[in-house]
Amino acid sequence: MVESQSWTNSFSTSFKNIHELYRFLDWELTPALEKVAKTYPVFIPRRLAEKIKVQGPQSVLAREFLPIESELDPDFKGLEDPIGDKTYHKAPQLIHRYESRALFTPTTICPVHCRYCFRKNELNVADEIFQQDFVETIAYLKAHPEVSEIIFTGGDPLTLSNDKLEKYLTAFSEVSSIKDIRFHSRYPVILPERIDDGFLALMEKFKSRFRTITLAIHANHVDEFDEINRQAIKKLTSSSMQILSQTVLLKGINDSTEVLLNLYQEFISLKIRPYYLHHPDQVKGGMHFYLPLRQGREIYHGLRKLIPGWALPHYVIDIPGGHGKISAMNPESTTFSGQLISKDGELVSIQEPDFFI
Ligand SMILES: *Cc1c(COP(=O)(O)O)cnc(C)c1O
Ligand code: SF4
Repeated sequence: MVESQSWTNSFSTSFKNIHELYRFLDWELTPALEKVAKTYPVFIPRRLAEKIKVQGPQSVLAREFLPIESELDPDFKGLEDPIGDKTYHKAPQLIHRYESRALFTPTTICPVHCRYCFRKNELNVADEIFQQDFVETIAYLKAHPEVSEIIFTGGDPLTLSNDKLEKYLTAFSEVSSIKDIRFHSRYPVILPERIDDGFLALMEKFKSRFRTITLAIHANHVDEFDEINRQAIKKLTSSSMQILSQTVLLKGINDSTEVLLNLYQEFISLKIRPYYLHHPDQVKGGMHFYLPLRQGREIYHGLRKLIPGWALPHYVIDIPGGHGKISAMNPESTTFSGQLISKDGELVSIQEPDFFI
């Protein structure tokens, strides 16, 4: 099949030059936007650029992937490394923060540059996190049998060829304490050609070598879906992999209960199991997508009434400064206030017998 050859071609013909992109869109490129793209370059596959052109400059897709002036606005203060990952860099390409699972970051390359990206200040620098010394990584994992899951992230891990993925999976399968494998990727939605026969065969080959192989698909809005990426996602959900969703809550993109409800209906139709709804990170250059936690909680709370428990994502926040990921509906203390918010949004008092308190 030609299909299995074509994703690298789609990748390499993507727009990386802002002038070519705006010429293709036939939209005006202002000097201010040109300047933004010097700091935060564009990267947009052709098929996505065609969709943006059809949907227009105010569309969700344009706002997710095209530069805007506020990215360089000095009044929008944000952090270079908003989630403090670097502190937990324990071996080459390995971030070990939570006891039982480690992030593996074999690439800085993505199929698109999302303007809200939490790594937007790192993706274009040759960072030591991404340097190779895989032998040391494996040695670390053998010395830390508490790690049972490897989470491929990046960048986007599906940028690796099927051959490279096979090499890594083989090595991880030889560490007896590694039981689960997970990928977090935007490819299924952005460059669905990547879900080729070779990739599906590889996952099939490794399904008995690990307890689970999971793919968390990153998507934020129904407008990202079309017949082509839905077909690719159907191949994934018909495979033996566990397919989850991952969404970033973003001001001006999906910051309402209705928009999220449509997105979760789409996930349900595609048999994608909702996993994470991330509160936006306070990233430098992406602060125009930020919304306060209070507002995020109200939006999420609205969803709880409309979506069954099995289709409700975990709403999580990465606490700035390296404190990790935790429920954003977290009570501010383990001391119980005596009240809980009901599904209808009312504060309800709960009486507990005195002798238990
Ligand atoms: C999100 C994350 C993980 C995975 O956490 P899960 O709760 O298993 O989804 C692991 N390591 C780091 C550093 C993370 O940010
Ligand atoms: S795919 Fe993920 S890592 Fe890559 S630019 Fe988008 S948000 Fe960032």
